[in-house]
Amino acid sequence: MTTGKALDGITRRGFLGAGATFAAAPALAAGVSVDCRPQTVRNPGGARALKRYSVKRDIAVIGAGPAGLSAAIVAKRLGKSVVLVEKNGYLGGCLAIGISPLGFLDGRGRWCIGGFAREFMERLAEKGWSNGTAVCPKHNSVTSANAEGVKMLAAELVRSEGVDVLLHSELSAVDVENGSIRRATAFGKCNEIAIEAEIFIDCTGDGDLACLSGCEYEMSKSLQPPTVMFTLENVDQEALFRYVEKNPEELRYSPSAANQPQTPSTYTVDQFRKHKSHVFVGLQKTFSELKAEGKLPVDRASLIYINGTNPGEVYVNTTRLLNTDATDIFSLTKAELDGTLQIPKLVEAIKARVPGFERCFVSSVSSNLGVRETRRFSGVRRVTGEDAFSGNVPEDTVALSGYKIDVHSGSDSGVLFKDIAKPFGIPYGALVMKDVGNLLAAGRCISADAIALGSLRVMPTCMALGQAAATAATIALRAGVSPKDADVSAIRKSLLSQGAILQPSA
Ligand SMILES: Cc1cc2nc3c(=O)[nH]c(=O)nc-3n(C[C@H](O)[C@H](O)[C@H](O)COP(=O)(O)OP(=O)(O)OC[C@H]3O[C@@H](n4cnc5c(N)ncnc54)[C@H](O)[C@@H]3O)c2cc1C
Repeated sequence: MTTGKALDGITRRGFLGAGATFAAAPALAAGVSVDCRPQTVRNPGGARALKRYSVKRDIAVIGAGPAGLSAAIVAKRLGKSVVLVEKNGYLGGCLAIGISPLGFLDGRGRWCIGGFAREFMERLAEKGWSNGTAVCPKHNSVTSANAEGVKMLAAELVRSEGVDVLLHSELSAVDVENGSIRRATAFGKCNEIAIEAEIFIDCTGDGDLACLSGCEYEMSKSLQPPTVMFTLENVDQEALFRYVEKNPEELRYSPSAANQPQTPSTYTVDQFRKHKSHVFVGLQKTFSELKAEGKLPVDRASLIYINGTNPGEVYVNTTRLLNTDATDIFSLTKAELDGTLQIPKLVEAIKARVPGFERCFVSSVSSNLGVRETRRFSGVRRVTGEDAFSGNVPEDTVALSGYKIDVHSGSDSGVLFKDIAKPFGIPYGALVMKDVGNLLAAGRCISADAIALGSLRVMPTCMALGQAAATAATIALRAGVSPKDADVSAIRKSLLSQGAILQPSA
């Protein structure tokens, strides 16, 4: 009979049926020690077979992507007990699918994100799982991240920092009483876990916790399309670079890729050679030819790959699932399958046409579709495109966003890609949910319009938002007030002492 505690302080509320029976282990072979004795478990079936646990912590963080990982670790460091709940079997969200953080630097090459985000990437580099941060004329900066390295470092950190983690646990229900979350329930593998906390932080990307709590949200009519990332090995990049040097039209924005200004590309092959942390956006001529020949399985104007940390390894960000709503399980399922099926056709076309890719092979397909945009929840403040373009840094700024406005069209191959003059500030109120008292949001589901999201959705900013939400939650708890009434100057002071950057460099 199993009665153990899964996590310290997590208690069982239900038990397996009693009466497991044991038989003698059969002798298999001398020196082999395997215990094959059968254990028959009397199974009550149905709801009574469900294992029920309950857990109570100061802070519950739901979703362990860049925002959630940062929030959970920071809240624990600030002295609070934390449970981090994640539906996948690994930590890191989109940071663990081969995407490199963009926008640690602003358009003039100055750091606009510090704190935990920068620390995490430095630790990754120390282990050889990142090639560090490089200036990029197109994306401000690229900081490479080995997908598997992210998972290993994240696991190491939650263990060493003492964050309690529940993996394979997807949020299934929320009880709201008197305008506050009383309990959230997660479900995984016939286990149901009731989670109680003083403050909850929604880091699910899609805002599932806020959604089930009844918070108001907005969603664009046409959402940015998701992508199934995949990894290619054995790419001869020098052969590709030589080809592109001889065919410079392969390194330009293609006319079909706008809504966007036709900025002459300042992107050069030398830059790729010089910086191992780079993102290649090119092959526009080849892609338009493939499209004309009916051999391009995806509505994309160019190949995008992110240079891996291992020789010949690239993470490909080129599948595209138009007209997808990732909050709808049928649409999500269709997109996962369609995206996966775009890969072999895309690889076949690239192998046949592009120098350097002749002998490449697919070594992995991301276990999760990468979702760029879904719900954005109403906070007590909202950050807008005007704030982004004017470089507005309000007094209650808790994170900066210095990346460009980068909005992929949900219905064709277009991308709205625009510079901002300087980083803008994200006000604390954009993290504070207006409809539920003890709920903060961090990451891409905060209170923002679609244009501001186009910048702040990058992972360094999401991590900075996670750090801000955790710091705010801690300060609110210490003062015995709700997040809405937390002292913003104390939050900012604490963030600065943790190395966060809250004011753009002059
Ligand atoms: C294809 C693609 C390319 C991108 N390119 C870049 C790039 O080059 N550089 C860059 O910096 N950014 C890039 N972005 C943007 C960036 O990756 C995301 O905006 C960012 O990861 C959002 O962080 P997050 O923590 O809010 O959400 P996510 O990274 O989505 O993490 C959310 C986490 O919550 C978990 N979760 C979700 N729902 C539940 C639930 N109900 N219960 C429990 N757990 C749940 C998820 O499994 C996941 O681990 C890209 C995004 C995509 C999709």
